[in-house]
Amino acid sequence: MSISENLKTVQDSIPSHVTLIAVSKTKPNHLLEEVYATGQRDFGENRVQELVEKSESLPKDIRWHQIGHLQSNKVKYIAPFVHLIHAVDSEKLILEINRRAKENNRVISILLQFHIAQEKSKFGFVEEDLPELLDKEFFSELNNIKVKGVMGMATFTSEEYQIRQEFQKLKSIYSKIKEHFNSDFDTISMGMSGDYKIAIEEGSTMVRVGSKIFGVR
Ligand SMILES: *Cc1c(COP(=O)(O)O)cnc(C)c1O
Repeated sequence: MSISENLKTVQDSIPSHVTLIAVSKTKPNHLLEEVYATGQRDFGENRVQELVEKSESLPKDIRWHQIGHLQSNKVKYIAPFVHLIHAVDSEKLILEINRRAKENNRVISILLQFHIAQEKSKFGFVEEDLPELLDKEFFSELNNIKVKGVMGMATFTSEEYQIRQEFQKLKSIYSKIKEHFNSDFDTISMGMSGDYKIAIEEGSTMVRVGSKIFGVR
């Protein structure tokens, strides 16, 4: 199947309230252009350098999503144009995004990443971080970020039950912290090529799909 046929298949399996991010990491520009030509505007990358290079040569109305782990010292490169930063996992990173957004006269939207998978990972907040995170006027003084919601990745497994439980966990964290933010807090970014259908059943509002559109990397 061609890429545009793949895209159509994925789009047809996603309800209209769910945003599809076409994850184009490692893929050459001409393939992104093919997807762009069908009307797709949300693209996701996980490396800053690749994101910057692609944003410079591709159409300006693309909404670029930084979906991979982000180091604080790289925020400055994407701050001028990034649409949404998904994997925000530390207070230090939040402060840096706010600082660079301010420099650029922007308000940058972010998602708080939570570690929901069984696999060990350094990345992502855990539920126990919440009280401290929501305490002390931390977010209220940051005028150049908008916390839009949460993001997470399920364990890479064929055990559907486990994946489902992990997505439920993220949904539950989302519901618990929603009241601390304003009405812009409406996004649950969960689901990739292998598990986006389960994610949608469990409340995802944004899926990040790469290989199912662009083919294996
Ligand atoms: C690569 C990546 C995806 C997409 O993965 P596929 O399995 O190819 O759909 C989604 N989210 C993140 C954070 C990624 O790094």
